[in-house]
Amino acid sequence: MAFLPKEALTLTGGCYCKAIRYTIKIPAWDHRHAVPNAVETPISATETVETRLPVVMIDHCNTCRQVAGAILQSWLISPVGWVEWDVLSKEPADETLHLSTIDAIGPVRDNAPSTYVTRFNASDRATRAFCSRCGTTLTYISHKRIDTPLAAVDITVGSLDNESLKLTRPERHAWFDYGVDWVKSLLTKGDGGFLVRHGEGNLSIMPSNTRDDEEIQKEDAHRTCGDW
Ligand SMILES: [Zn+2]
Repeated sequence: MAFLPKEALTLTGGCYCKAIRYTIKIPAWDHRHAVPNAVETPISATETVETRLPVVMIDHCNTCRQVAGAILQSWLISPVGWVEWDVLSKEPADETLHLSTIDAIGPVRDNAPSTYVTRFNASDRATRAFCSRCGTTLTYISHKRIDTPLAAVDITVGSLDNESLKLTRPERHAWFDYGVDWVKSLLTKGDGGFLVRHGEGNLSIMPSNTRDDEEIQKEDAHRTCGDW
């Protein structure tokens, strides 16, 4: 959590179509759990702090890449009790259910409410969840400690709202030995400055040197590939 403020804060996010929303209430530093036996978290070239939840990490593992369909996954790991969910039901239609993490995205249960959350048991060790209406990958939850005070949920950093996303930075790589070589090179060495950098998606337009970052920020933050 080294890059999050030490004061209590709330992060929000959800799937693209908003059928699934979550709120993460992170307490002040003194009330955050230490991760047992974890390597300390660097906060500068020479300083480290105890590793406490939430942990934000880049995940290079093959399964997370394939499930997301994205070249990299990134997770915010939080105790399950810090996260609350507002999920649109299918039956009855369009009712918003306020659910705990276990009820919203935990292991599949027979009597679970019918919502837009689809759960996928990739193995008997964990459940993944995504939105069945828009496809956003949302969570990974290990079954190992699910009934203990150490139960934690991994939430995709990419599903955070923009304001929450600005507060988070990854502090470590996981499964680095299994990553794609050119991705690891881009992350650790940069692109060498020779990859073409289009400011937007049109491959015939080079970036404008007359727009500064502040000007771009004022534009619609949700402008995306579909708009050009
Ligand atoms: Zn959705």
